[in-house]
Amino acid sequence: MSGGTTLSATMPASFRITIWNEFVHERQNPAVAEIYPKGIHQALADMLSLQSDFTVRTATLDEPDQGLPPEVLDNTDVLLWWGHAAHDAVSDELVTRVQQRVLAGMGLIVLHSGHFSKVFKKLMGTTCALCWREAGERERVWKVNPGHPITAGIGDCIEIEQSEMYGEPFGIPTPDELIFVSWFQGGEVFRSGATWTRGSGRIFYFSPGHEVYPIYHLPDIQRVITNAVRWAQPQGEVANVPRHVPVEQAREKIVARGGTVH
Ligand code: ZN
Repeated sequence: MSGGTTLSATMPASFRITIWNEFVHERQNPAVAEIYPKGIHQALADMLSLQSDFTVRTATLDEPDQGLPPEVLDNTDVLLWWGHAAHDAVSDELVTRVQQRVLAGMGLIVLHSGHFSKVFKKLMGTTCALCWREAGERERVWKVNPGHPITAGIGDCIEIEQSEMYGEPFGIPTPDELIFVSWFQGGEVFRSGATWTRGSGRIFYFSPGHEVYPIYHLPDIQRVITNAVRWAQPQGEVANVPRHVPVEQAREKIVARGGTVH
């Protein structure tokens, strides 16, 4: 294998963002369709497209190659993932391709019930299980890492009047960075915003976004997602490219045990 594979040394002039959504609830539940008439993916796309340096496309499960043929994934800098009812319908082959792209530097933002997607579980390597309750209760998303770029422009906390409770214990590996911790009216707490790095790729999980509440219409939620897209962009050299280094390329002469000089 040859070494030295690198991503573009300079940041792209335009960030290429793909929003993947299973697009099931919006077509089956009129209450969800009322909140997101064109789907959650399109609501997120309309919001992110307001950034002049973002090039945004959407992808859904029912499209060819489940919305993510290689030419799309290979030309995506940051992938957003929303799934819930159809996790099992996502092909293992696609999951592996997404994993490989993340290891090679693509950013990944996993939203809400995407915590239980094959993609997230594969990249985390843990159960990603949690406890939950749907009671329309208040959530406060507390900023616990105020210097972090994902929190730029966010006050002490984000108030969500009606939310689905997600509670601890959350079966994730210890995050690289904890960004948000949520409090719920019923008393639970939850690590609602966290980051990891896998290979060269940055991953952000953000839990608010239950489909029957208009959470992705909230300006602060939109701000966090926009910040996260910028934060998750590819960072440069690919880690862990296997490369054999022959003795002729050693930086110094090597004296092996027994006195052999290479
Ligand atoms: Zn939910």
